[in-house]
Amino acid sequence: MTPPTGAVQITCPDCRDTLVPGRVDHSSLLTNGPMIVEHVPAFVCPQCGYSAIPAQTWEVLEQLAAGCAAPVRFATVPVYDLSELPDAGIQIPRRPQAT
Ligand SMILES: [Zn+2]
Repeated sequence: MTPPTGAVQITCPDCRDTLVPGRVDHSSLLTNGPMIVEHVPAFVCPQCGYSAIPAQTWEVLEQLAAGCAAPVRFATVPVYDLSELPDAGIQIPRRPQAT
């Protein structure tokens, strides 16, 4: 698959720069766990890194989420839970110190 091309000009909603064809890594949380897709064709802001994935590429991601292709590898991902922290003034919980 090649990066998206064409005469369409998309402007970054954050910094107003023009997005250019590129690749991004995309992650989503499915009902059966996380899915990571690397090198997804997208339009990327050269200024701030904002990315927009074209509709036809979303269709490919949906097919992958439905299990239409075998993954190239599996990864273990860390999971955190911030439900015990107050909404404001959040501090990252530190690892317990070894004694
Ligand atoms: Zn930008």
